[in-house]
Amino acid sequence: MAIFDELTKKAQAAGEKVKDIAGVAAEKARAASDTAKVKVAIVAEQRELEKNYRAIGEWFVSEYEGEVPDAVRDVVAAINVSKARIAELKERDEEPETGAEEHVLKTCPVCGAASDSKFCPDCGAPMGEE
Ligand SMILES: [Zn+2]
Repeated sequence: MAIFDELTKKAQAAGEKVKDIAGVAAEKARAASDTAKVKVAIVAEQRELEKNYRAIGEWFVSEYEGEVPDAVRDVVAAINVSKARIAELKERDEEPETGAEEHVLKTCPVCGAASDSKFCPDCGAPMGEE
């Protein structure tokens, strides 16, 4: 699986970098003897950790082709649901206000055109409540 070789290589490269960073981090930790500073440092490192984990996840989802492994299938599915939901919400956000509470298509009682506006865009007749 080429994709996993690639992923392993990247992880190894990241591992080398982490060793250097770990050395620097140890120095920083010694310097930050104050408890508050240590707490802040922990939060900062956790953010960094999350950022890097997220980068791996984003790379995986965008680059992965083919069968998603069982271990992450649910997570990838949830990501795709969220992406679709965001796209849908953005689309709704871009649409002009119609004054309608719900985004429901109604059928014109006169000409049968479908619209979610109060008046038919084709013949101008009131669309009614449903
Ligand atoms: Zn009409």
